[in-house]
Amino acid sequence: MLLFDHLLDFIFPRDCFYCKKPLHFRQKGFICDECFEKFIFNRGVCCRCCGRALMTEAVRGKSNEGITGTGLSRNAVSEPHIVVTEGVCCLNCTELQPFFDNGISLFAFTDVGRAFVHTLKYHNGTWLRADLQHLFVHEKVRLEDLKGAVFVPVPLHFLRKWKRGYNQSDLIANALAKYVGGRVQRLLRRKRHTPSQTSLTKAQRKENVRGAFGLHRFVEIDRRAMYVLTDDVFTTGSTLNECARVLKENGATVVRVFTLAHG
Ligand SMILES: [Zn+2]
Ligand SMILES: [Zn+2]
Repeated sequence: MLLFDHLLDFIFPRDCFYCKKPLHFRQKGFICDECFEKFIFNRGVCCRCCGRALMTEAVRGKSNEGITGTGLSRNAVSEPHIVVTEGVCCLNCTELQPFFDNGISLFAFTDVGRAFVHTLKYHNGTWLRADLQHLFVHEKVRLEDLKGAVFVPVPLHFLRKWKRGYNQSDLIANALAKYVGGRVQRLLRRKRHTPSQTSLTKAQRKENVRGAFGLHRFVEIDRRAMYVLTDDVFTTGSTLNECARVLKENGATVVRVFTLAHG
């Protein structure tokens, strides 16, 4: 088997997707160990709603090593007035008035984290499946209570999906359901095309997605299920919140959100 892997790597050498250095044939996926350590995971006291780290114990890749030096993360520095206690919501989520109950986000949307999400989203990210799995394994403790959940990907408008060929939220939801032991249900549809949110302000984003989602026909909400809306990045949360509103208004009891990155 090792010989076969060696041979495969000889014929199709793999490089780290981020630093482009060649990968050892024993290493699965497309992220080298050095780059994996550059992920800044959300740790310590995190926002109950969106999951971002409020204090930095945002820790780099290999756990327990390299806690960032200042003691306060960028987030906490920019919102120093927040009294950090367990179960607190950040300023953004307080303003958002979430329909969802709580959330998990794995890492900060910076450097390697941002590059990973962009590659997953815009460069046919299906080849990063093994790396997704690696990230889930690294964060397994935080994912434990998602076992048995119904993962609901945030839908793309069919034209955008057709152009891109896939929906990155589907990809993440499938990988996560497989990892924790749950299932994926595509309950939501985009009722209209919305312009990309990237260049919009917080207020514009909220307006942009208002009424943009609905339930698929013939699907039913199970009041006993734990629904987990799944997306790549939590930015202002307006899209996820609009999706959560639809699920709650149609009878869902528990709606949580999961995103790979926050930023
Ligand atoms: Zn690398
Ligand atoms: Zn928050």
